[in-house]
Amino acid sequence: MPELRKDPIIQRWVIIAAERGQRPLDFKVETTVFDVNPKACPLCPNNEDRTPPEVFSIRLDGSKPDTPGWLVRVVPNKFPALKLDGELNRRGIGLFDMMNGIGAHEVVIETPEHSADWDTISAEQLQRIFVAYQVRLRVLGEDERFRYLLVFRNYGVQAGASLAHPHSQIIALPILPQLPKEKLLSARQYFLEKERCLFCDLIFQEQELQKRVVYESEHIIVLSPFAARFPYELHFFPKQHSHDFSQASADVLMDLAKVMKRVLTALKQLIGQHAYNLVLQNAPNPVPRPGRPDYWGTLPYDYHWHWEFLPRLTRVAGFEWGTGFYINPVAPEAAAEFLRETLTQIP
Ligand SMILES: [Zn+2]
Ligand SMILES: [Zn+2]
Repeated sequence: MPELRKDPIIQRWVIIAAERGQRPLDFKVETTVFDVNPKACPLCPNNEDRTPPEVFSIRLDGSKPDTPGWLVRVVPNKFPALKLDGELNRRGIGLFDMMNGIGAHEVVIETPEHSADWDTISAEQLQRIFVAYQVRLRVLGEDERFRYLLVFRNYGVQAGASLAHPHSQIIALPILPQLPKEKLLSARQYFLEKERCLFCDLIFQEQELQKRVVYESEHIIVLSPFAARFPYELHFFPKQHSHDFSQASADVLMDLAKVMKRVLTALKQLIGQHAYNLVLQNAPNPVPRPGRPDYWGTLPYDYHWHWEFLPRLTRVAGFEWGTGFYINPVAPEAAAEFLRETLTQIP
């Protein structure tokens, strides 16, 4: 019997429509990665002049900006969705609210290696990528025009990637988008009622139940969420309460790098190469709100950063567009069990 489940954080419904006796391989979907000759790749070393000048890099000693010798390189997007310079000019015509398309859109070139993914690069390199995110989140966060900073990664054509070279993106937005807003408001409401973090309570409950915990390390816990939208959707949380990823310590970042690498390796073993999106759900930029000085007053206590890993094995179609619900053909408990089993075989 299919089951309707409600997400305890944003109250979104999903239909868990798992067939009995389903096996993980039933979801093996081939993914396509756009590939070009590394010589023609704008993100490869020696092609630094084909991107806008870098805004940040982690480099070998002695190498100069915009030349080879970088380990991680951050550049503005050549085709940005939003423009950096100008005023917001908030305005409205009747029911229609508008503002200028001000924002930042940056590309994090994650490694000089043309063909790699987060399961194949070293944990040290993954940690450097996280450090690059932290630096850019802090720098962009100083701009009071930006209310939300989003870090995300698309892998594979089905997930929207247009370049094969490993990269992720950072977008600074002048508004707080709907999805993070729903999470933030829900977390704030919960805190006002209970003086506890909703996510810390969720983690504690899942640790007690042990049905959807995929993996736990010293600092990180990986959950297969109760109302997962997609087969093998995973959420990575720091075990210690923290609202802002940009403040995570070197130890937490290293542990996260090791855990992500390990879990993504297991998932690839289980379901094969697949397209996916990774999204950082971080606290918003706490810029002052005119007339509402306490708007973000409880944010450091009520919000808890996490990464969402969303494999693209199913298609979002009319039902999803029409309802905002999702149909997930794999029970989150089964996904957790398959993954736990595979993880025991990884050294
Ligand atoms: Zn390349
Ligand atoms: Zn918490």
